[in-house]
Amino acid sequence: MTTSSLLSGHDVVVLGGGVAGCVLAARLSEDPGRSVCLVEAGPDYGPQQRNWPEKILNARALPRDDVWERHTAFYRIRARVLGGSSCINGAWNTWGSHADHAEWTRAGGERWSADALEPYRLRAVERMGLHAVPDAELSAWASAALTAARELGYPEVDMGVPGSPGYGRPLLNAADGVRRNAALAYLDPATRARPNLTVLGDALVDRLAIRAGRVSGVHIVLDGAPVTLEADTCVLASGTFGSPTVLMRSGIGPAAHLKENGIRCEVDLPGVGANLSDQPGVFVPLVPTDHLNRALAAKESAGELYVSRMLVRAASEYCPDGAWDLHLLPTAGPPLFGKLPPGQYEAGISAFLMKPVSRGHVRLRSADPLEPPEIDPAFLTDPAGRDVAVVRAGLEKAAELAAAMEPLARPADGTPVHARPAADLRARVGTYWHPVGTCAMGPADDPRSVVDGQGAVHGVSGLRVADASVLPTVPAANTQLPVLALAEMLADTLRA
Ligand SMILES: Cc1cc2nc3c(=O)[nH]c(=O)nc-3n(C[C@H](O)[C@H](O)[C@H](O)COP(=O)(O)OP(=O)(O)OC[C@H]3O[C@@H](n4cnc5c(N)ncnc54)[C@H](O)[C@@H]3O)c2cc1C
Repeated sequence: MTTSSLLSGHDVVVLGGGVAGCVLAARLSEDPGRSVCLVEAGPDYGPQQRNWPEKILNARALPRDDVWERHTAFYRIRARVLGGSSCINGAWNTWGSHADHAEWTRAGGERWSADALEPYRLRAVERMGLHAVPDAELSAWASAALTAARELGYPEVDMGVPGSPGYGRPLLNAADGVRRNAALAYLDPATRARPNLTVLGDALVDRLAIRAGRVSGVHIVLDGAPVTLEADTCVLASGTFGSPTVLMRSGIGPAAHLKENGIRCEVDLPGVGANLSDQPGVFVPLVPTDHLNRALAAKESAGELYVSRMLVRAASEYCPDGAWDLHLLPTAGPPLFGKLPPGQYEAGISAFLMKPVSRGHVRLRSADPLEPPEIDPAFLTDPAGRDVAVVRAGLEKAAELAAAMEPLARPADGTPVHARPAADLRARVGTYWHPVGTCAMGPADDPRSVVDGQGAVHGVSGLRVADASVLPTVPAANTQLPVLALAEMLADTLRA
């Protein structure tokens, strides 16, 4: 495709080719009368799985090559590749509680209820080939955790549907150790063959072109050269860290912050980049017995060792009836960070805070699209200390689960993690990598809201946001399946 044919204009340009962007490009181009262009900053490894790097396909590890920043703070990790974070994530899929849907319908209307999203959840499950963890992938540690959770009285639940607290196996978008990412699932050879779909890899979105309150296109950097794409509608899908930065560089955001960065304000929207919500977690390390180390080594030699294959949804006292606000995640295998001698493994249980009240932010450091933004997840910082209290409750429940698994591992020496001071918990905090909320949906008269229930940006026409950033609150779930479903649903609102 020549640059001039690119310039000639598209019906829809999708900005960001991650989980949501792949769904949107595939669904919107189903109509041969609509021309669609998908723009992704990272590489496009193409429709054939055999041409993808081995590291991205390997579901036994979390790849770290195609990312925005190497050697960065753990909570900033995010993919820069067609397929987005589905190329580098745990390939786990779960769904949240009815309480999550109540929060979303208050912000965006009935299309965000569990019933209204159900057909889209099913579409995503089918297209991604999601299936429950098979028995062969359970390690001795995961099997022991399933037994221990049952003995402690948790009911067994289906993790892929809106449900109730309990234990179970997640749904996977990986089979036989091969990760099936959103690009392979949605942008398959048949979809790519559509003459009305253009996929641009290595194309960085700088900012939107805005004329008289309407977005008319987008300025991108393609092969190092500036190019302007004209479009009737731009759909931003650059993720929770990317979408607010594109809006702010385009003059849509908090007026004072835009001024600090020398950007002319087109629409003063204080909610852009605010309300960052991610799920922090604290790990309870345990000391594996020789028996457990040997069992894990045997599984690893057979090529079947997966660090984590079950979870428990648990409720603290702060949680509404029927919902849960904690995931307990038993893990055993090679350490996520660092190395251990051959034959030795890291085992433990993490308690993740699924419904944090603390809020962080994403801000620009400059108007330069190459400069990484300021990202502050503000983990466990709410003044009333509720987030710390829920994490502590989760750590107590994790210790209870660990005690029931004691024949395989014993607690590490020293004060139990749940009894440590808040400062110590903050120092140990990690993330589940499920950031949302920086372009939150809500009514136009709420200064914190950025988009309406269809993803249309307040105060400007021709522009939607359709990715994890529109969720005003994080679900009590891993976010990939909810994002796939919301992108399926928002694509339908654009087709109507
Ligand atoms: C390490 C890690 C592990 C995770 N594990 C799980 C898991 O096991 N299960 C689960 O459910 N969820 C998991 N997640 C979260 C899940 O991957 C995200 O919720 C999901 O990918 C969000 O989709 P998205 O489309 O909003 O953003 P992304 O998938 O991140 O896609 C955003 C895309 O936009 C592109 N982009 C950004 N800025 C620009 C720009 N200026 N120009 C052009 N392109 C741009 C990016 O390169 C990227 O491809 C994990 C995330 C990470 C990072």
